[in-house]
Amino acid sequence: MAEAGPFVKEITPPDQDYSQWYQDVVRKADLADYGPVAGFMVMKPAGYALWENIQAGLDRRFKATGHVNAYFPLLIPESLLMQEAAHVAGFTPEVAWVTQGGQEQLSERLAIRPTSEVMVGAMYAKWVQSYRDLPLLINQWNNVVRWEKVTRPFLRGKEFLWQEGHTAHSSAEEAMAETLRMLEVYREFLETELAMPTRKGQKSDSEKFAGAELTYSVEAMMGDRRALQAGTSHYFGTRFATAYGIRFLDRDGVEKHAFTTSWGMSTRVIGALIMVHGDGRGLVLPPRLAPIQAVIVPIGANASPEVLGAAQRLHGELSETLRVHLDQRPEYTPGWKFNEWEMRGVPLRLELGPRDMAAGQVVVVRRDTGEKRPLPLAGLAGQLGELLEAVQADMLSRAEERLRQHTHAASDYGEARQILTDRLGWVEAGWCGSVACEDQVKEETGATLRNLPLDQPAPALCLVCGQPARHMALWGRAY
Ligand SMILES: [Zn+2]
Repeated sequence: MAEAGPFVKEITPPDQDYSQWYQDVVRKADLADYGPVAGFMVMKPAGYALWENIQAGLDRRFKATGHVNAYFPLLIPESLLMQEAAHVAGFTPEVAWVTQGGQEQLSERLAIRPTSEVMVGAMYAKWVQSYRDLPLLINQWNNVVRWEKVTRPFLRGKEFLWQEGHTAHSSAEEAMAETLRMLEVYREFLETELAMPTRKGQKSDSEKFAGAELTYSVEAMMGDRRALQAGTSHYFGTRFATAYGIRFLDRDGVEKHAFTTSWGMSTRVIGALIMVHGDGRGLVLPPRLAPIQAVIVPIGANASPEVLGAAQRLHGELSETLRVHLDQRPEYTPGWKFNEWEMRGVPLRLELGPRDMAAGQVVVVRRDTGEKRPLPLAGLAGQLGELLEAVQADMLSRAEERLRQHTHAASDYGEARQILTDRLGWVEAGWCGSVACEDQVKEETGATLRNLPLDQPAPALCLVCGQPARHMALWGRAY
C-alpha cells in the first residue's frame, strides 16, 4: 500500500463517524459543493460525470422497453396542482412558489414542480382520446424542487436531478405490468452497472407515494447498514386520470378512464453508490460506471522522457478500449497521485517506471482490494478488460454478502428490536398489515417498514402482535 498522504488523513474513518466520513468523501473526491442558497448543491464535474453515466445506462434501458423522452414545463398553476387531493396533501408542505414575473404580480401562484404527475396528467388529457392513443410511454429528464428542512449532498436536497417516467394505459393489468417492469429495470440496472444489490418490494400504505394506489421500491443497504430507497415505481389506477380527465373511447365504444403509472430514480443513487462501496480511503467506483476506469501513473521522481513517452503510448493504446487517464503532472509525486486517485475511486492504477519498462510490464493495483500485480504490456488491454469485469463482479458479491449477512429472520419481537437497534441490521418477518404494529416498530426502534418483498409468502404470524400475518415485511433504519 502507498503511504498515507495528506488527503487520506483528512477523511474521518467510517467506523468512527459514518456521517462525517460521507461528507468528507463527497468533498475530498470533489463531487459536489454547496451553492449560495442553503440546501441547493452544485454537482462538480467528478459528480456530474457519475450522473451522466447513470443517465446513459438508464436511458438505454428505457428506450429498450419502448419509452421515449419528452420535456414538460417547470411551473404548475396552483389550481391544477390542487385537483388530486392526496397528491396535494403529500406535496404542498414542500412546494416552492413563483408569485411574480418581472415587475408583475401574478394573478395565480405557480408551483415549481416537486414532481410532474399533475403537469403530465393535464397534457395526457389533451392527447388521449381513443384506445388507439394508448399506451403513452414517456420519460423526462429534469430537475425538481422540494423545500426539505434538512439536506445532505446527494441524499436530500432542495433541488435534485432525476428522471420521471409517466405512462398511460387502457387496462389495469397493462399499467400494473408496466409498474413492475420498470421496478425490475431499476433492480437490474443497479445490480449490473452500480454493483448494487437491492430488495424489490411493495411499500406499505403509510410509506407510499402521495396519490398512488400502490408504490414499489428497490431498497439498498449502505455501508452502515441503513437502507436507502434507490428507486420507486407507482401504480395510480385511475386516480390521476379521474382528477385530470384522461379519458378514452375504448374498443367497445365505451368511454373510460386511463390507468397511469410513474417511476423515478434520482441523483440520490450517487449517495448510495458512495455508501455501498466507499471505504476509509474514499470513493470506490464500480468499473462499468467509473468515468475513469484506469489511471496511468509514471514512476520515478521527474519521470524520464523515456518513461513518459512509454506512458503516452500506453495511454493511446488503452484509450481504444478503456476509459483511461494519464496523470503526467510533474508537480506531484507518484505517492501523492496514488492517494488522490484512490480517493476518487478509480478502479485500477497502472504504475509504469524504468524497471517495468525493462521487464515489459506494468504494475496494476486494484482500488477495491489493494491487490497489486505485474501484467505484461503485450496484450494488456484484453487483460485489463477482464480484470475490470472481475472487479465489478467482486464488488457486487461483497455488497450482496453484506445484505445477506445483515438481514435477519427474527423469531420474536424482542430479538427484532435488538437486531434493529443494537446490531443495526435489517429484519425480515411477518406483518399483520396494521398501522398500529408498523408504528410501534417505528417508535420503539427508529426502523421503518422498507417494503413487502415480492414473491415471498407471508409467514404465519405478525412479528409485533402475534396475529396472523398478511405479508412478509422488511424492516430497517433508513436514510
Ligand atoms: Zn401485527
